[in-house]
Amino acid sequence: MDERWQRPRGTQDILPDDAARVEYLRRLVSSVAQLYGYGRIETPVFEQTAVFVDGVGDGTDIVQHERYSFVDAGGVALTLRPEGTAAVARAYVENGLSAWPKPVRLYYWAPMFRRERPQKGRYRQHQQYGFELYGSPEPSADAEVLLVARRLLAGVGLVPQVLVNSLGCEVCRPGYRAALVAYFEKHGPDLCEDCQRRAAANPLRVLDCKQDRTIAQGAPDIADFWCVACRAHQDAVMALVADQGLSVVREPSLVRGLDYYYRTVFEVHDSSLGAQSTVLGGGRYDGLTARVGGAPVPAVGFAGGVERLLMAAGRRIPGEGVPRAYVAQVGPGREAWRVAELLRDAAIPTEVDLMARSLKAQMKEASRRAAVVVLAGGQEWEAGRVAVRGLRDGRESEVPLGGLADVVRTWLDEGQEGE
Ligand SMILES: [Zn+2]
Ligand SMILES: [Zn+2]
Repeated sequence: MDERWQRPRGTQDILPDDAARVEYLRRLVSSVAQLYGYGRIETPVFEQTAVFVDGVGDGTDIVQHERYSFVDAGGVALTLRPEGTAAVARAYVENGLSAWPKPVRLYYWAPMFRRERPQKGRYRQHQQYGFELYGSPEPSADAEVLLVARRLLAGVGLVPQVLVNSLGCEVCRPGYRAALVAYFEKHGPDLCEDCQRRAAANPLRVLDCKQDRTIAQGAPDIADFWCVACRAHQDAVMALVADQGLSVVREPSLVRGLDYYYRTVFEVHDSSLGAQSTVLGGGRYDGLTARVGGAPVPAVGFAGGVERLLMAAGRRIPGEGVPRAYVAQVGPGREAWRVAELLRDAAIPTEVDLMARSLKAQMKEASRRAAVVVLAGGQEWEAGRVAVRGLRDGRESEVPLGGLADVVRTWLDEGQEGE
């Protein structure tokens, strides 16, 4: 095929069956949000570039290598949103949400754009859902978002494995950083090229590097540097979620790839995904609003990729298989159309022939696409009745037009239960 007419590398077309599964997840996310009182926020697909460079941090892969940035005709530097948290922080500040009663609970579901190396389950345009809780510095806020994450994953049959860590605060992180830098200096020549470059400026990122895992394992543990407040915060978060039956494991090497995290960071894994097992991740980002023009506000949250969640949940998420009725036309006439609209009036998904098929061909089509077929027209019609057939169980009946919708609905429902 001529390359001009192929979709851009790393993007995807979502066809109806997968789109139905995506839609199922969207409804799940919004119902979990509702249960915990999170309101939906929508921000623009693009922002001024500074929101992400300053908000996410220009030492990150997202900002350095993966941005889709452009200058528009008015000379404004813009970037397609690569992640949701910095954009929501910008909106929080700009719309004065700090004046709202605390805490402010927000969630989003939106496309993100990153020029990543294409790999399984990663797309350059992908959808993310995220939960953001603003205004509370308390460990209970961290615990709540972890419970939200658990409930979300339970909705698709996943039992999450939760890893947590604390990156400390402005009091204790500098000591840890210095110890890390000293440690990596010692191992300088053994680090991968990227890490040799960034070890001094951004030593936490080396802990994230897959190539330098062995060296990272011997690195100083931040737990030995936590101040009293950070240690108490971490202990309280772990105790609160354990209280609710969610077991979490502390992972010393967990740092997450973004600059804005403060204290708590966490990742939720699913073993069925193998090496790329992270389903969602998040943490606390108390200083983020100050990076995008506001006063510092305590905040905690998480985000996850929809495609990842689809992969992890697999076939536990139903596809497009909505049970449908099919109305076949008997003989010449337009009775089938009238009956189909009648069923749709009763909210029953219904298809009708558009291909000028014979009755026999319509019946064949019905058996492929529907669970119940209605025959409209002919002698029965004259008597004010229509024939109904269950395509899975083979049952037949002749009912008056007025009672048709009830019969079709009952048969469709019974067919569902039998599956
Ligand atoms: Zn601290
Ligand atoms: Zn490395």
